[in-house]
Amino acid sequence: MAVRKLRTVPDEILRKKCRKVEKIDDRLLTLLDDMIETMEAEEGVGLAGPQVGVLKRVAVIDIGDGPIKLINPEIIEKSGAEIAAEGCLSVPGESGTVERPTWLRVKFLDVDGVEKILEAEDFLARAVCHELDHLDGILYIDKITEIEE
Ligand code: ZN
Repeated sequence: MAVRKLRTVPDEILRKKCRKVEKIDDRLLTLLDDMIETMEAEEGVGLAGPQVGVLKRVAVIDIGDGPIKLINPEIIEKSGAEIAAEGCLSVPGESGTVERPTWLRVKFLDVDGVEKILEAEDFLARAVCHELDHLDGILYIDKITEIEE
């Protein structure tokens, strides 16, 4: 495994839409392992393909319960809304508040190519939404909510 170079704003790759993974091969598995190592090295809770310069629909998340690898993730159901603080490894030194669903169900492929369903609540739901946005070139700074005093 290896730590990969982290892409940060205003790198244009962060604004591109990712392609679906068509084949789960050794190269992809190495990418996912490298993404986990990079996320851990940077002390992040999630990382998406474009953040290491790869325009593929892959993301890794670890909110403290162990790493989850998501291939071709897709939100199929969501509910609730909560505004809370967020940050991003690709937008260093900043944070802002964003509205996200409090619950969601996401469909994805695991490393064996088997379709799985993940149910996520609260902080995990927030992390999933944040990472999935990256796959469509969306950054949390596009969605920052102004808090009314
Ligand atoms: Zn991010």
